[in-house]
Amino acid sequence: MRRTETVVIGGGQAGLAMSRCLTDARVDHVVLERGRVAERWRRGSWDSLRLLTPNWQSRLPGFRYDGPEPDAYMSAPDVVGFLDRYARSFRAPVEEDTRVLAVERTAGGYRVTTDRGAWDAPSVVVATGHCDTPFVPPVARQLPADVVQVVPGLYRNPRQLPEGGVLVVGASSTGVQLADEIHASGRPVTLAVGRHTRLPRVYRGRDILWWLDAMGTFDEPAGEVFDLAASRNQPSLQLVGRPDRATLDLPGLQERGVRLAGRVAGIEGPRVELADDLVAYTAAADSRLARLLQRIDVFAARTGLDAEVGPAEPFRPFLWPAAAPPEIDLRAEGIRSVVWATGFRRLYPWLKVPVLDERGEIRHEGGVTALPGLYVIGLYFLRRRKSSFIDGVGRDAMELATHLAAHLRRAA
Ligand SMILES: Cc1cc2nc3c(=O)[nH]c(=O)nc-3n(C[C@H](O)[C@H](O)[C@H](O)COP(=O)(O)OP(=O)(O)OC[C@H]3O[C@@H](n4cnc5c(N)ncnc54)[C@H](O)[C@@H]3O)c2cc1C
Repeated sequence: MRRTETVVIGGGQAGLAMSRCLTDARVDHVVLERGRVAERWRRGSWDSLRLLTPNWQSRLPGFRYDGPEPDAYMSAPDVVGFLDRYARSFRAPVEEDTRVLAVERTAGGYRVTTDRGAWDAPSVVVATGHCDTPFVPPVARQLPADVVQVVPGLYRNPRQLPEGGVLVVGASSTGVQLADEIHASGRPVTLAVGRHTRLPRVYRGRDILWWLDAMGTFDEPAGEVFDLAASRNQPSLQLVGRPDRATLDLPGLQERGVRLAGRVAGIEGPRVELADDLVAYTAAADSRLARLLQRIDVFAARTGLDAEVGPAEPFRPFLWPAAAPPEIDLRAEGIRSVVWATGFRRLYPWLKVPVLDERGEIRHEGGVTALPGLYVIGLYFLRRRKSSFIDGVGRDAMELATHLAAHLRRAA
């Protein structure tokens, strides 16, 4: 049995940021990682994946991108290199190839059992990621066995899919990127569209994320949003980080030949029923985007940026989605694979303490759970809008490390 003051579970950006802040606070700790540092970026990414956030936005406590291309977007191997360098920069005490099997209460705090021995500690930080396990709707089980089903974490490139058409379900950043790439490889693609957040890559000559950063949108605290549960369920940004800084949106995909459809409403064997909601979702996304661009224009005028940036650009709503099919017969249309780009969920079968809600999510207030000494970090909108981003987890880590250090002092 080994002892330390804090066990951090997970060696991604959240676990490392926490480790850096605990190091600064002189809290003895260990980071347990079932694979290697940045494991998710080593194994869970498709070949062409690049960050949506520009390099200048890769900022962690005591470390930031300082290369020659601040406006470019990192590939997955770049992110691995970045996080590896971060871990080395402060000699993060990471134990790799160590999978946590159980976290249980003890008189003095917690026992963390791994496949390489156990640790006792008065505090534990769960940093196993918001995008932990792909969410695939239960209706997927109704598909015929000969239809290949793929989740983004296991998708690498179009060559991996069988010949024939492809149905991509979900039109957030992952869904639109995969639909575009698979279509470009010569397959007919249908994209089933649900709630999404349309964004141009560049507006008035600046990256859209530059605007959101400048306006403080990502800093919005969880305590100040009108409906936190709804905000935590918002779809990811419909963006792609290409070297040409191209916008990837539904009008562009339709123009290139991707067939757009409504949400998957039901499946019975090869017959996929599609909801009549494509226009409603695209109109809602357009209306949110129009409001955002107006806010940017007001901000630019108020702050004197008007003189520095390009002129206001006309907003082009997606007025004419082509008639969406109410149903697809996969066999009749030669569609032989379905890509589920339907988001993620989190599973904690090893968390043997009463901290999960009825949906299996960790109950917390800004990362602090009701169990003394137990924390969670890296979840979407944990403390502010950017909590799950590389650029956002650092501030949460600083605040949680302060809380945790105070807890250890009280416990001592
Ligand atoms: C496709 C995609 C694109 C993204 N693009 C961006 C982007 O452009 N910019 C941005 O800022 N954010 C982006 N994100 C969001 C976020 O940055 C990533 O999800 C990031 O991986 C989150 O880091 P994390 O440390 O919270 O979790 P993870 O990177 O998931 O790290 C968790 C770690 O915990 C380990 N682990 C899990 N269970 C156990 C266990 N039982 N025992 C030991 N170890 C365990 C895992 O192996 C993993 O290494 C993207 C996310 C996805 C899915």
